[in-house]
Amino acid sequence: MSERKVRVRFAPSPTGALHIGGVRTALYNYLFARQHGGELIFRIEDTDSTRFVPGAEEYIIESFNWLGIKFDEGVSFGGDHGPYRQSERRDIYKKYVKQLLDAGKAYIAFDTPEELDAKRAEIQNFQYDASTRGLMRNSLTLSSEEVDRLIAEGQQYVVRFKVEPNEDVHVDDMIRGDVVINSSVLDDKVLYKSADELPTYHLANIVDDHLMEVTHVIRGEEWLPSAPLHVLLYRAFGWADTMPAFAHLPLLLKPDGKGKLSKRDGDRLGFPVFPLEWHDPKTGEVSSGYRESGYLPEAVLNFLALLGWNPGNDQEIMTLDEMVRLFDITKCSKAGAKFDYVKGMWFNKEYILMKDNKELAPAFDKILRENGIEAPMEKVEAVVGMMKMKKINFIKELWPLCDFFFIAPKEYSREDKFVRKNWGEQAAADMTELADLLEGLDDFSVEAQKALVDPWAESTGKKPWNPWRVALVGTGKGPDMYELAAFLGKEETIRRMRKAVEVLQ
Ligand code: GLU
Repeated sequence: MSERKVRVRFAPSPTGALHIGGVRTALYNYLFARQHGGELIFRIEDTDSTRFVPGAEEYIIESFNWLGIKFDEGVSFGGDHGPYRQSERRDIYKKYVKQLLDAGKAYIAFDTPEELDAKRAEIQNFQYDASTRGLMRNSLTLSSEEVDRLIAEGQQYVVRFKVEPNEDVHVDDMIRGDVVINSSVLDDKVLYKSADELPTYHLANIVDDHLMEVTHVIRGEEWLPSAPLHVLLYRAFGWADTMPAFAHLPLLLKPDGKGKLSKRDGDRLGFPVFPLEWHDPKTGEVSSGYRESGYLPEAVLNFLALLGWNPGNDQEIMTLDEMVRLFDITKCSKAGAKFDYVKGMWFNKEYILMKDNKELAPAFDKILRENGIEAPMEKVEAVVGMMKMKKINFIKELWPLCDFFFIAPKEYSREDKFVRKNWGEQAAADMTELADLLEGLDDFSVEAQKALVDPWAESTGKKPWNPWRVALVGTGKGPDMYELAAFLGKEETIRRMRKAVEVLQ
């Protein structure tokens, strides 16, 4: 068994936007596949037609595309274990349903919803299982002629799994160890419905994991209660030898740790719970996404990787390659992980600092355009480079910090504390002198300005820096003065200086 090539899958149901917890599940599967030289499959589990939401599948694919998580095979990626969309695999499942029926491991049940309700009213804590199946209308209580007749008449039925009671079922979990559940607590789960000729999640999931040669099932904690049933299904099919290993990941909790993270927490506290903006086709509701909120995909992945796992030291910033190297599924925590969205913003800030100005510039260019500014890309890049050190969490925060690069101060107001404090008696005369001096410069680079202005300031004992900032910016913000002046260019720099002198005189 250990010889088998590692194959894992991410298998979402297209019922809406992909939740951020699902992104973490996919990421852990990706890390596990990469570090074992294995393969990652993308399967769409769409057998519950009542919950199908148009656009969800495309949304999920686009999300991973943005995040940079690559699948080796599956829906939209191809591969030789397809089709990878469960709704296209009906005939495959039918064969396996028949196999269980023929082996007496499943049975046909005709009970209508009304009949089931009546039983629930009659028997306290009713569960369809070994203790009650003898009281119901199914192929165990009806003659085979009767069963055939009902089917021939077109009566709808379901196929249920026959769970043998009083057996300890062991789930071998890479994170949680040996999880034991007694089979008596399980009900005879529906595996197939004649009404839509489709299997339920449980059957399709097991059959596909088997046929797609999945070796490890890594998924959210919410699937742990289904795992004993899945173990029993593998055995019923005779596939126990190739049963995948399980890993049920810790829940994502609300930022305060009290309960499961929900979309409402995001709405209330102002953070996205979806990778991309989502337009709900039914309600028309728009939910924010990490992409549209200005997060870098690398920052999102790094943040998510550490929700439920850490490399065992203090290292927080990791490239995807480093994560692949360091990740250890057995070291994931069992306890839920608090969704510390403030930490998520911290990661974004760190990744902005590390990222190339060239790569950041288009995002800032977009914001400039929204503010009516069109600037050549080198200028946009230069501003990002000068200003990202200001510890911004998002590129959009740059605009109020650096509008003066593109727009001259509209008014020089003594209401401004910085202006009041720094535009003294001498300022107008000093600025005029400095402006005259700069007129003589042809090369307006930082170095050339420095070579001229530093000695002048030194020999005259003048401190022109703050008044100069007043003249170019209009207040107390911005980068180094030479850098700013070089960016603005000679003409604009001198124009702003003379204007300030005129207004503030
Ligand atoms: N279709 C399930 C989901 O939506 C997959 C669970 C599993 O990975 O087995 O998460």
